[in-house]
Amino acid sequence: MPSEWSPAVGARRGGAPTEAAGDRGAITMTTIIDGNEIGDRIRADVGDCVEALADAGVTPGLATVLMSDDEASETYVSMKQRACEEIGIESYHHEIDADAPAERLFDRVEELNADPSVDGVLVQMPVPDHVDARRVLRSIDPMKDVDGFHPENVGRMVSGDPRYKPCTPHGIQKLLAAVDVDTEGKDAVVVGRSDIVGKPMANLLIQKAPGGNATTTVCHSRTEDLAAKTRQADIVVAAAGVPEMIDGSMLSEGVVVVDVGVNRVDADTEKGYELVGDVEFESAKRKAAAVTPVPGGVGPLTIAMLMYNTVKAAGLRAGVDVELP
Ligand code: NDP
Repeated sequence: MPSEWSPAVGARRGGAPTEAAGDRGAITMTTIIDGNEIGDRIRADVGDCVEALADAGVTPGLATVLMSDDEASETYVSMKQRACEEIGIESYHHEIDADAPAERLFDRVEELNADPSVDGVLVQMPVPDHVDARRVLRSIDPMKDVDGFHPENVGRMVSGDPRYKPCTPHGIQKLLAAVDVDTEGKDAVVVGRSDIVGKPMANLLIQKAPGGNATTTVCHSRTEDLAAKTRQADIVVAAAGVPEMIDGSMLSEGVVVVDVGVNRVDADTEKGYELVGDVEFESAKRKAAAVTPVPGGVGPLTIAMLMYNTVKAAGLRAGVDVELP
């Protein structure tokens, strides 16, 4: 069961909005964790580092490579480019036809690895089926692997000596810290075991380091009685990609819920769909001490941490110390 603690009620830095939890009156509040605000703050701090690098004659550069016709992937890439431009990171965008031979992508990555104006190389996933995704991750120079997915960077993270932490789980650590949720000694349940979210999230949570020291359970599609696991948790990170699969009945009072899921479901809107998380927000809110919304929760942090890693890469390349937030 969640231990006796009350995170973030009037105690967080930066003023994410809080709401009274409907059936518990004004005594207990549910913090709706405002990822936009926390992400903006981190981006501003990273922007200060970009200025410090500029003083040292260094302009960070991020190259994005898109080999997909997927509308969501196009949107993610353009959001990343825009975020770069806003804080003074040079962005270079490369598009490759989705049906082009795989070697065209690998050749491009090789060029970017060798390009001295590029500090970070990001190939937007997923790549088409005829491209070996694992080879893509291995092909990026580990020093330019600002997604943190190269085996060398994964190994460093797992062994407790991270170079670039993967952006989404790192962003979640920042979100929790921003609302004063201390993970140490807590029971955390991560739902999902993907290489980009679930596994690195669980890894960061078990590290003997700030944002870690949690007793962590990883659940997946073969987990039996998921609700029994999530009900034991102080912190639930939902990253399954299944719309609203976790509702309030699967949570304990006072839990902190981080909803990573971004799922399109049909809706009577202009676009014909709406975005929902993996958590059923309204019922979860009635149980939780703090919860992230979708959209506006984890997503902005993922982008902010990409900027963070790119600036870190530029500092490492140039041998300039940058004081990242
Ligand atoms: P994947 O599809 O790669 O992985 C999903 C994981 O969830 C798998 O490990 C799978 O188990 C598990 N899973 C699926 N169904 C269930 C279930 N019914 N019960 C328990 N576990 C289940 O997804 P990603 O990790 O890439 O992404 C997860 C979600 O997060 C998606 O909605 C994605 O859009 C979103 N996302 C959001 C980001 C953001 O910045 N906000 C960034 C990245 C992702 P198994 O391994 O057994 O198949």
